[in-house]
Amino acid sequence: MGAELGSGQLNCSDPGFFPVFSLLCPPDQGYSGAQIAYYNVLDLIFPEHGMSDYSFPYKDAEFVLNDIIDFDAMCASAGLEEVNSELATAILEEANRLAVEVIAPLNWVGNEKGATLEDIGCVETPGFKEAYWQMVESGWCGLGFPEEYGGQGMPKTLATATDEIWQSANLGFSLCSMLSHSAVEALLLHGTEEQKDAYLPKLVSGEWTGTMNLTEPQAGSDLAAVATRAVPEGDHYRVTGQKIYITWGDHQMTDNVIHFVLARLPDAPPGVKGISLFLVPKFLLDESGEPGERNEVECISIEHKLGIHGSPTCTIQFGDKKGAVGYLVGKPHQGLMAMFTMMNDARQAVGLQGLSVSERSYQQARAYAMERLQGTRSDGSRYPIIHFPDVRRMLMLMKSGTEAMRALAYVASAEIDRSRFAQDPDEKARHFARVELFTPIVKGWLTELSTELTSLGIQVHGGMGYVEETGSAQHFRDARITSIYEGTTAIQANDLVRRKTQFDDGAAVKSLAADIRKTAAELVASSELAGMGTVLEEAAGLVERACDWVLENAPKDKHAAGAASVNYMMLMGYVCGAWLMGEAALKASARLKSGGGDRAFLEAKVVTARFYFAHLLPRANACLTAIEAGSDCMMALSEEQF
Ligand SMILES: Cc1cc2nc3c(=O)[nH]c(=O)nc-3n(C[C@H](O)[C@H](O)[C@H](O)COP(=O)(O)OP(=O)(O)OC[C@H]3O[C@@H](n4cnc5c(N)ncnc54)[C@H](O)[C@@H]3O)c2cc1C
Repeated sequence: MGAELGSGQLNCSDPGFFPVFSLLCPPDQGYSGAQIAYYNVLDLIFPEHGMSDYSFPYKDAEFVLNDIIDFDAMCASAGLEEVNSELATAILEEANRLAVEVIAPLNWVGNEKGATLEDIGCVETPGFKEAYWQMVESGWCGLGFPEEYGGQGMPKTLATATDEIWQSANLGFSLCSMLSHSAVEALLLHGTEEQKDAYLPKLVSGEWTGTMNLTEPQAGSDLAAVATRAVPEGDHYRVTGQKIYITWGDHQMTDNVIHFVLARLPDAPPGVKGISLFLVPKFLLDESGEPGERNEVECISIEHKLGIHGSPTCTIQFGDKKGAVGYLVGKPHQGLMAMFTMMNDARQAVGLQGLSVSERSYQQARAYAMERLQGTRSDGSRYPIIHFPDVRRMLMLMKSGTEAMRALAYVASAEIDRSRFAQDPDEKARHFARVELFTPIVKGWLTELSTELTSLGIQVHGGMGYVEETGSAQHFRDARITSIYEGTTAIQANDLVRRKTQFDDGAAVKSLAADIRKTAAELVASSELAGMGTVLEEAAGLVERACDWVLENAPKDKHAAGAASVNYMMLMGYVCGAWLMGEAALKASARLKSGGGDRAFLEAKVVTARFYFAHLLPRANACLTAIEAGSDCMMALSEEQF
C-alpha cells in the first residue's frame, strides 16, 4: 500500500487495490489533484517510504500466550479441550488478514475524512460500514461470547489478542465493537432473561451496536452529578437528558444502536447511590423483535477532536418530547455497580488500545529507521539512521515497552478467564482479586506509556514525523485519548490506591509482590540472568514499600493517597512490566538451551528484557521517591499562587 500511495499515481479503479478502499472513491473520480500532490511531498523527501504496512506481531503474541500464560493448559483445565494454541494461531492469522486487507487501509481515511454529521441523526464515516459488515459476517464480533447467544465461546485471552489486531489496524473503527462488547458484558450479568433474549443475539453478532452513556456536561469524572432522569411509565421508563462525548453514539452501520444510559429515578437518593442503568434502543423493537418505531434518541452534534477522527463522538439528546423509552437494567439505584461491569471490561480494553497504537507506531518507526539514510561513511556511501545509538534507544524503548505492555494485557485477560473458569471458590476469588488489581494498572500504565512511545515514533521520523503524511502523527494523536476516556489516569490511580490497596489492607498488592519475588528467585538461580533477578527482587521491595507508605500515611494525611496515586500506579506498571519481561527472559533462555523455537526471536527477547530492566524499570525508583515526598509541596501553594 505504501508504494502505491507514495507513487502519486493512486488509482482506486486498479483491481489490485483493496476492495473496501475503492468504495471510498468511485473509479471515475479517483483521488483529487491536491491529494496526489500531498503524497508527492513525501515522495520528494523519501521516495521509498509511504504509509506503513501493519502486520500482527505473531511471534511475540504467541510467545506470551504459550510460554507465559500456558494457553493450552489454561483451556484444558477449563474443559475447553477443542481450544488450543494451534486453533489460536489459525484464528489470529485470519483476523490479521482481514485487518491488513480491509481495516488498516481505512485508518488513514478515517483520520483524513473523519466522521461527519450530515443532518441531525445521520452520522457517517466513509468506508467503515462495508468493513464492519465483513467483520460481522465472518463472526468476529462474538468471538469471546457465549455460544448460547450466538458467540463462539472462545477464551477472553484469545479475544484480547484479536482485539489488539483490530485496534492496531484502526483505533477509531475498533472502538465501535469494543463498546458493544462492554454492553454485552453488562447485559449478561445484569439483564433480565427477556432483555437478554431480545438484545444479546444481535449485540453479540454485531448486527446492532452498543454504547455507554455516562458523561454529561456537569458530570465527567464525578458521576454523582448525573442529572438525566427516568420516570416510570407502565412496563418501561421515560428517559430525559443530554449525554456528551458518546463514542459511536450514532451511525449508519447497523439497523439499531442500543444505548446503556445512567439516569436517576424520581425517588433517587443524591450522589452515586441514586444512579440506575437503563437500556434505551434507538429503534424500539416491534412484536417480531426487529427495529420498529423510532425512539426519542437523537445525535445533535459530533465533536471535532485531536485524534480518532473516524470514531463519531456524539452529543445525544434523550427525549425532547415525552421522553425516550428505556428499560431498567439491574436493580433501581444500583446502576453504577452494573455500569462498573462495563467499565472494568472497557478499561482493560482501553489499556489494550495503548499497546495496540504503540505497536503500530513502532512498526512504522522501525521501517523508517531502516530506510532513512543520514550517516555518511568515509567512502561516501550512506547508511540508515538505525545505526545511531540514540535511534536504537528510541526503538528499544518502543520495542521493550510494547512487549511488556502486551505481556501484562494478555496476562490480565488470562486472569479474567481463570476467574471465570475456576471451580474452587478460593481459586476463583484469588484470580478475581488479581483482575481487580490489574484493571487500573492495565488502563493507566499502558495508556500513559502509549503517549510517550507514540511520541518517540514521531521523533524517530525527525521532521517527517511532524508532518501528517507519514501517518506517525496520527498514532500520537489517537493515543492521546486513551488516558482520558473510561476514567482518566487520576481516576484509575485513585481506584488503585484506595479500593485496590487501602480497602484490603494491601493484601492483593502484597500477594502480587510475592509472585514477583518468586520470578526474581528463579532468575537469581539461573546463572546468566542472575543480575536481573537481584534487580527484580529490589523492584518487588519497591512495590511493598510504596504499599506500606500508603497504608501508613493515608490515615494521617487526607491528601496523602491522592498525592501518591499516579506515581503509585506508574510504579506498579513498571514493576509488573519487569516481572513479565523477567518471566519472558527465563522462558526464552530455557528454549535457547533446549534448542526449541526461533533463535533470533528468543535471543532478541532476552536482550529486550535486559534493556527494559536497564532503561524502563529504574523509573520505578523515581516514582517511589515522589510518593515518599508526600503531599506537602503539592498542596502548599494557595490557589492565587498558581
Ligand atoms: C473522544 C472521547 C470519547 C468519549 N467516549 C465516551 C463514551 O462513550 N461514553 C461516556 O460516557 N463518556 C465518554 N467520554 C467522556 C470521558 O469518559 C470523560 O471525558 C472523562 O471521564 C473525563 O471527564 P471530563 O472530561 O469531564 O473531565 P473532568 O472530570 O472535568 O477532569 C478534568 C481533570 O481533573 C481530573 N480529576 C477529576 N476528578 C478527579 C479526582 N477525583 N481525582 C483526581 N483528579 C481528578 C481529571 O483526571 C482531569 O485531569 C469520551 C470523551 C472523549 C474525549
